[in-house]
Amino acid sequence: MTDRSKKENPVYSRTGTDKVELKEDEWKNILNPEVYYIARQKGTERPGSSAFEHSKEIGTFYCAACGNPLFKSDAKFESGCGWPSFYEPISKSSMIYLPDNTHGMKRTEVECGRCKAHLGHLFNDGPPPTGLRYCINGVVLDFEKAQEAEKNYGEKPVE
Ligand SMILES: [Zn+2]
Repeated sequence: MTDRSKKENPVYSRTGTDKVELKEDEWKNILNPEVYYIARQKGTERPGSSAFEHSKEIGTFYCAACGNPLFKSDAKFESGCGWPSFYEPISKSSMIYLPDNTHGMKRTEVECGRCKAHLGHLFNDGPPPTGLRYCINGVVLDFEKAQEAEKNYGEKPVE
């Protein structure tokens, strides 16, 4: 198993709203190498490698670099693309959207709105109600299961 235990990360906060700006070597010191590779070097994890891709657990996904809340599990869907996919973020301002014309493609890169960690890409082929697909590297997501009360609430709107 890969060691995913956290290094000491002084900027990690699930309630903080201050923007996080660190130098690259500071990030390197506080992030696990696999998180650093995706978040700071805009890497891409191997398709199908994230346990989150098919996870049905109810809860919240946070930025693994800074703790910013990014997605609720109810916005997650099975896209079959090989990465965890969501049709909407918790709030629009929880992300930054940037044009990415690398690899001969016109794509929209998605970064964490708090620490500018590279998360993945945004596509227009998602399901209703948004028609969007946030294709996100599981490595840069931290998941926390909902408490029982929230969980019941979360299950209600299922049709
Ligand atoms: Zn972040």
